[in-house]
Amino acid sequence: MIQTNAAPRQIPAWQRELSRAITRPAELLDCLGLDPALPSLNPAAQRDFPLRVPRGFAARMRKGDPQDPLFLQVWPQAEEGREVPGFGRDAVGDLKKLRPGGLVHKYHGRALVIATGACAVHCRYCFRRHFPYSDALAARDHWQETLKELAQDRSIQEVILSGGDPLSLPDAKLAEFAEALEFLPHVRRLRLHTRQPIVLPERVDEALLAWLGRGRLQKVVVLHANHAQELDETVAAAVARLRGLGLTLLNQSVLLRGVNDSAAALHDLSERLFALGVLPYYLHLLDRVQGAAHFEVDESRAQPLMRELAARLPGYLVPRLVREDTGAPAKTVVPW
Ligand SMILES: *Cc1c(COP(=O)(O)O)cnc(C)c1O
Ligand code: SF4
Repeated sequence: MIQTNAAPRQIPAWQRELSRAITRPAELLDCLGLDPALPSLNPAAQRDFPLRVPRGFAARMRKGDPQDPLFLQVWPQAEEGREVPGFGRDAVGDLKKLRPGGLVHKYHGRALVIATGACAVHCRYCFRRHFPYSDALAARDHWQETLKELAQDRSIQEVILSGGDPLSLPDAKLAEFAEALEFLPHVRRLRLHTRQPIVLPERVDEALLAWLGRGRLQKVVVLHANHAQELDETVAAAVARLRGLGLTLLNQSVLLRGVNDSAAALHDLSERLFALGVLPYYLHLLDRVQGAAHFEVDESRAQPLMRELAARLPGYLVPRLVREDTGAPAKTVVPW
C-alpha cells in the first residue's frame, strides 16, 4: 500500500496504552484487591513524581499482596517523605556534568544523551526523579545542539540514549537522530537504555524495529528489569522481536530491598533473562537519592548474595555488582 502524507496519522498502539496508564493510587489498590487504606505518600508530596504504572505491568502483579515485588517498585510509600542523611537530590553528580544538548560525558569514549524526561512507569527508587528535565531535553530543536556537540568531539565512539526513557519519544524523532549519527564517522555504536520493552512491550512495534534495524551503527539495547516476574510472555515476545534484528541485548537491574534482595530472586532473574536471549550486565547498588532510602541494600549484604549467586550460576549469568561514585572514571565494580 502506498502511504501519502495526506493519510490520517495513526496513533501507535503503545501511545494509546501509555495514555491509559494507572495514575490514581485508589485505582491501583482496587485492581489488586488491596486495602484502600494502605499508607502512601500524600498527593501533594507526589506532585513532581506521581504514581504511574501501565496496565499491562500492573496485570503482572500478584493480587492481594502488598509485598509483591512489582507493586513495591511503583507504590509511593509514606517513607519517601523521610529526609535521610546521605541521600540527596543529585546522587550521582550528573547535574553538574550536564552539557548543552542534554549531554552527560563522564566516561571515556561514551556520551550519554538525556533524550527526554518522560517514562511509561514511575519507579520509586529512580535517581532521575529530581532531574530538571525541562532544562536539558536533547530531542528539542531536532537534536541540533546534541549533534553539534557530538560532531565536535571525535573521542566519542558510543552514543547512549537515556532519560527518562528514550523510547517515550516517537519513532520519527528517534529515527531522525539515529540517521544523523550515521554521518559522524567517529561514532560506531548507538546504545539505548530503556525499561519500556519491560513495562510497555507494545512499544516494540514495526516503526521501532524499522529504524533500529537500519544503518551502519552497531546497536546495543540495555533493558532494565529487576525481577523475573516482570518478564511474562508479552515481554518475551517483544524481546524476541528485538532479537530478530541481531543486536546486542543486555539487562541492568538495581538491587532493591524487598524486591530482589535474595539469591533466589536474582538467580531466577538471570535464568529468565537468558531464556529470553538477554545477558545480565549490571546489578547496581542503589544511588542514594532522596526518597529512596527504604530500598537500600548495603554492600555488606549485597556481597554474600553475590557469592551465593555465583555458586549457582555460570559466570556469564552473574551480573557485575556496581556502584556509581561521583567523579570516578567508570562505574565502580564492587568486589565480593
Ligand atoms: C553508566 C553510564 C555510562 C555507561 O557506562 P558503561 O559502564 O559503559 O555501561 C555512560 N555515561 C554515563 C554518564 C553513565 O552514567
Ligand atoms: S523507567 Fe528508568 S528512568 Fe524512568 S522512572 Fe523507571 S528507573 Fe527511572
